Amino acid sequence: MSFQSFNPPRRILMGPGPSDISPQVLSSLSRPIVGHLDPLFIGMMDEVKALLQYAFQTKNEFTIALSAPGSAGMEACFVNLVEPGDKVIVCRNGVFGDRMVQNVIRVDAEPIIVDTTWGRAVEIDKVEQALIDNPDAKFVAFVHAETATGAVSDAKTLCALAHKHDCLSIVDAVTSLGGIELRVDEWGIDAIYSGSQKCLSCVPGLSPLSFSEKAVSVIKNRKTLVQSWFLDQSLVMSYWSGEGKRSYHHTAPVNSLYALHESLLHLHNEGLENSWDRHKAQHEDLARGLEKLGIKFIVPKEERLPQLNAIYIPDGVDDVKVRNYLLNHYNLEIGAGLGDFAGKAWRIGLMGYAARSENVALCLTALEDALN
Ligand code: PLP
Repeated sequence: MSFQSFNPPRRILMGPGPSDISPQVLSSLSRPIVGHLDPLFIGMMDEVKALLQYAFQTKNEFTIALSAPGSAGMEACFVNLVEPGDKVIVCRNGVFGDRMVQNVIRVDAEPIIVDTTWGRAVEIDKVEQALIDNPDAKFVAFVHAETATGAVSDAKTLCALAHKHDCLSIVDAVTSLGGIELRVDEWGIDAIYSGSQKCLSCVPGLSPLSFSEKAVSVIKNRKTLVQSWFLDQSLVMSYWSGEGKRSYHHTAPVNSLYALHESLLHLHNEGLENSWDRHKAQHEDLARGLEKLGIKFIVPKEERLPQLNAIYIPDGVDDVKVRNYLLNHYNLEIGAGLGDFAGKAWRIGLMGYAARSENVALCLTALEDALN
């Protein structure tokens, strides 16, 4: 057997993530590696933390980038905050809400599931009723931007509800961070995680994570040990904070963190609100073009995510054939339907660096060609 270097073509990534990466972020990966406890690297980590605090709009001291993908960020929230027997209200309106349920079950806690039809925002009234019916619930968990369906939920109202009933909020912001309005401190979010590969337009494999003081105190006062050593955030804290003195926990993915630093720098330079506006404007252009092609959205207009456009596959059209055509003729990736929407929907991502006019124009041209 002979092996050669892997040299993929340059694809345009307009699926549910990973999204396109700017040339600057990509080239930051090839900067010289330094030790993960090198003072220069620790200085960069401090900047990553400050830039993440900006992206999340929080002053939370515990704000880090977990060395693992978004699913690990999700798991870190549940294994650290929830103890066996705790009741957790989990809002489920797509694949990732269901993944939260699985996490709750695995920590021997009790999920109180609030189901909403796929493709719709979490129903506030149902959550309120679940909180009234379960006065002993300790947490409310929900996905801000459900990537499986393209629906946004009202995070501000859900967090206010959680607090009204003395619950902490656990929020999945994997697809929302950088793409739509998100204000951790103002909305009173207690635990939040994201992913590097969506609207931050960085390489996959890192999960920004932030805990409020209340969440940190829940972790510090646990009665039981966190069952995952790697995800035990009381151990990770010493690597991400402490005046000049950091102790080894695990070997950080040094070059991936350079890329995260670079991508967060871009977000900071653009300005968070400008980034939210750009995603919205590109989505509106794409939606106008899709409507001209007779393509219909799954989610009602007021609940649509700009960065994840879930559309019905037109009748009689072969899902796989069209997606392969786009890949082979245009080097363009769009996403397949997930879960209940497999074979019925496409998901067009406009995330981070991919949310640009040239991408929207290319996607519309390529789709029109593929459908004719
Ligand atoms: N949560 C949401 C809303 C997601 O879209 C994803 C990934 O697509 C995840 C969690 C899991 O993230 P990862 O694939 O990085 O583990």
